[in-house]
Amino acid sequence: MSRPANALKEMRGTVEIEEKEETPITYCPHCNANLRGEPIPENIAHHYSGTHWGRRIGIYDFELDRVVKWECPDCHGTWERKWDQNGWLE
Ligand SMILES: [Zn+2]
Repeated sequence: MSRPANALKEMRGTVEIEEKEETPITYCPHCNANLRGEPIPENIAHHYSGTHWGRRIGIYDFELDRVVKWECPDCHGTWERKWDQNGWLE
């Protein structure tokens, strides 16, 4: 007997791995530092959406309950987090 339910599960697992996008390199708008950090170790990478750690620091607004700005760990400059009607762009 075939087991279609198991086959589907395996297919889904493969798709998730293939669809994982590499974390884009972002630069500080003030000092141009590369804000993409070290690669996330493969054995724990499945817990995270990207492939690399981010070095920028999220500045959290407790009233809005979201990260509204980023801070550069090198020059400590800050900049607005970009968003549009569809949600956060970064
Ligand atoms: Zn900077």
